Amino acid sequence: MEYPELALHVAGQWLTRASGGERPVTNPADETTLATLPLAGAEELAAAAESARRGFLAWRRVRAHDRYVILRRAAELMRERAEAIATVLTLEQGKPLAESVREVRLSADILDFQAEEGKRLYGRTVAPRVEGILSQTVVRQPVGPVAAFTPWNFPANLPVRKLSSALAAGCSVVLKPDEETPGTAMLLVRVFLDAGVPADAINLVCGDPAQVSSALIAHPAIAKVSITGSVAVGKLLGEQAARHLKRFTGELGGHAPVIVCEDADLAFVLKSSLAAKYRNAGQVCASPIRFYLPRRLHTVFAEQFAEGARRLRLGSGLDAQTQMGPLTHARRLDDMEGFVEDALGCGARLLTGGRRVDRPGFFFEPAVFADAPPASRLMQQEPFGPIAVIQPYDTLGEAIDAANALPYGLGAYAFTRDLMTAHRLGEELDAGMVGINHYGVSQPEMPFGGWKDSGIGQEMGAEGLLHYTELKTITVGVPN
Ligand code: NAD
Repeated sequence: MEYPELALHVAGQWLTRASGGERPVTNPADETTLATLPLAGAEELAAAAESARRGFLAWRRVRAHDRYVILRRAAELMRERAEAIATVLTLEQGKPLAESVREVRLSADILDFQAEEGKRLYGRTVAPRVEGILSQTVVRQPVGPVAAFTPWNFPANLPVRKLSSALAAGCSVVLKPDEETPGTAMLLVRVFLDAGVPADAINLVCGDPAQVSSALIAHPAIAKVSITGSVAVGKLLGEQAARHLKRFTGELGGHAPVIVCEDADLAFVLKSSLAAKYRNAGQVCASPIRFYLPRRLHTVFAEQFAEGARRLRLGSGLDAQTQMGPLTHARRLDDMEGFVEDALGCGARLLTGGRRVDRPGFFFEPAVFADAPPASRLMQQEPFGPIAVIQPYDTLGEAIDAANALPYGLGAYAFTRDLMTAHRLGEELDAGMVGINHYGVSQPEMPFGGWKDSGIGQEMGAEGLLHYTELKTITVGVPN
């Protein structure tokens, strides 16, 4: 499968040229240009928002059951095309092909679940308080056209989280995926259109991110803003949304702690932690970053973790032997080097890796640090890459306090064989998702969202759909 010619989808037309110019899309595994991406300017952005207004008026009128049938068909098409979509995903994003295939299949499962939930937008009836009222009902209706912004780390899963809930609820969407990974988004939009979603109900734009977000958020047709991205951009878009009183969901960055308890099976922790840490080269919002080990186990765990990281096979995501692909763009390499330099400067111990690999492509050696001072950048900011840090602790209370100390609160993990400790950790860790004895906190049936700076609102699960609705109370009185 070759990389496709890129186009935006605006007002029912596929545009291979647009007024905002163009930019290349790069293969991170070898730095070759895959294609040229047309960029939307003011004209196409306004047309996309207007189209979403029309799309909403048409799509909201489609009965919930009929929307469900179309979205289930889209899920099936996504499965049929999984290999082809996954290949494009790996070409533009870098992760191993098997990870991309799993991502596309999981996206289809998310869509199935949200399509089902769309049939269950229940309301309630309330007993009238005063004479002359026949009925009082509380209903949920679709919020309206949505401007959706997604990053490059999960180019299939993250757009589908938004598209599935928004469309199932009866909303239309203007999707702006990241400019690094537009091919996957384009193939996904085709899936929805081929399944029967009206053309105006999905618009796809790329462009100058700041220009696109300001134009769409300010546009009167847009009712809701949903972003998955960094805390900084999430706050910026949240402020813009607030200025226009637009509904807002933010799925933002994380800095996940892992507390390993005295009684944990270290071999099991090591195996699952290495897989979780270096999946997608650590470019995962809920990726484990800070490992807290009882002081007595700290050195041996740190050494074995570093050994596991050193053994990872780096390479192109299309090579079946590859365990970790390149980082997705060159800026990530600079960021990683910044974290490493700062940590070394603060006195942290580098146990392995931490350098660019001398070959074409954006490859970075998986890095493991130990004993990083709390003030180091690595212990404060999300590295969003293949860097882990192993810290010692003396009491469980101290480890929980350290885990909760940052302004992030997305994923948090712990390993213990003691049921009481598991309950305590579930209760006391300040995070939207807590995984005890495993890392699989992202499931279609479960709400996914962050506390504190990590976000507002959830995606997936029954709650995901509700964020694309407004409440309305309807009371009917006796006619005169
Ligand atoms: P980013 O914040 O730079 O960009 C996210 C999206 O917002 C992109 O499409 C970007 O183009 C767009 N954008 C809109 N207006 C913008 C503006 N004014 N300036 C810059 N970008 C603007 O995020 P990123 O670096 O692409 O993605 C990585 C971040 O996403 C990490 O922090 C990661 O933790 C987070 N993330 C969160 C989740 C979650 O579910 N909580 C999932 C995946 C990634």
